[in-house]
Amino acid sequence: RAKSLGNNQYCFYTSQLTTEIERRFSLENELRHAIEQEKLQLYYQPKVDLMTGRIIGAEALLRWEHPQQGFISPEIFIPLAIETGLINSIDRWVLFQACQQMQRWQVEQGYHVSIAVNLSNFINHDSLLVVLKRCLKQTQIDPVYLELEITEGFVMQNTESVMENLNAIKQLGVRLSIDDFGTGYSSLSYLKRLPLDTLKIDRSFIRDIPDDTDDTAIVQTIINLAHNLNLSVIAEGIENQAQLAFLQQHDCDEGQGYLFSKAVPADEFVQLLQDSYLLCEPQKTLMSTKN
Ligand code: C2E
Ligand code: MG
Ligand code: MG
Ligand code: MG
Repeated sequence: RAKSLGNNQYCFYTSQLTTEIERRFSLENELRHAIEQEKLQLYYQPKVDLMTGRIIGAEALLRWEHPQQGFISPEIFIPLAIETGLINSIDRWVLFQACQQMQRWQVEQGYHVSIAVNLSNFINHDSLLVVLKRCLKQTQIDPVYLELEITEGFVMQNTESVMENLNAIKQLGVRLSIDDFGTGYSSLSYLKRLPLDTLKIDRSFIRDIPDDTDDTAIVQTIINLAHNLNLSVIAEGIENQAQLAFLQQHDCDEGQGYLFSKAVPADEFVQLLQDSYLLCEPQKTLMSTKN
């Protein structure tokens, strides 16, 4: 088509491509600066026990406020970071920040909430174990409150070394969950080989429950699968009461979503925690009891 439209169209297309490449390149440089100058921020989204309604933990989600462009979605800068290798320093920083935050909540506020951290391909990285051990040692947190969320894709990439890493992580007492479960590889055989604690049902399956009969079947099947494998199960992207009611009726253990709260800065999260405690009976040890 470009040919039939003649040279002008072709030139237009090329300059558009060049602009796109330049834009990505400058975004990459800006991201590098943001990492170096610690301009990235962690926000925390509550994880809720669906039986009691109580907040039992948080997922740490990265936020980047660009000086000119405002907040840039992790859906954009995380893939860029993966392509450029910046992801390793990001994951490293996030891990340490999250452990430090948890230590502050535990020591200063007396809240024992778990924090989940997303690890992209850092899970394949040789230094992961060293970094993880250092984080645990420096912050003195109980490893059982730290959870690592990994996706099926990364688990399948490099099976042997990933297996070794995951087993070693498990030995430390850190918990492991499969994020976006159901959207990656269709092979289920890895579930019995990996030392997992939790399956996290992808948001795309939650969106149309309880009306969509395919999705209700899939969600019920994942919940049963998790429980039969002695894993806990959490649903992400809960936005309304009907979704919540369905998940409660079908014994989903935990949930996350805008219905409860979006991801918020650390001080706002503490406020949510306090409210959650006031609503439920006052008891300061919050941990999922599964496993
Ligand atoms: P994810 O780990 O699956 O995180 C869940 C995403 O769903 C988050 O988007 C969260 O804000 C969003 N979400 C939560 N509840 C709802 C809801 O009820 N409705 C809707 N529509 N969305 C909801 P976010 O923060 O934009 O992150 C997107 C992805 O970027 C994450 O997906 C994760 O894969 C990646 N990511 C975020 N932070 C980090 C990080 O610190 N490190 C790494 N490696 N990846 C990260
Ligand atoms: Mg996640
Ligand atoms: Mg997810
Ligand atoms: Mg997801």
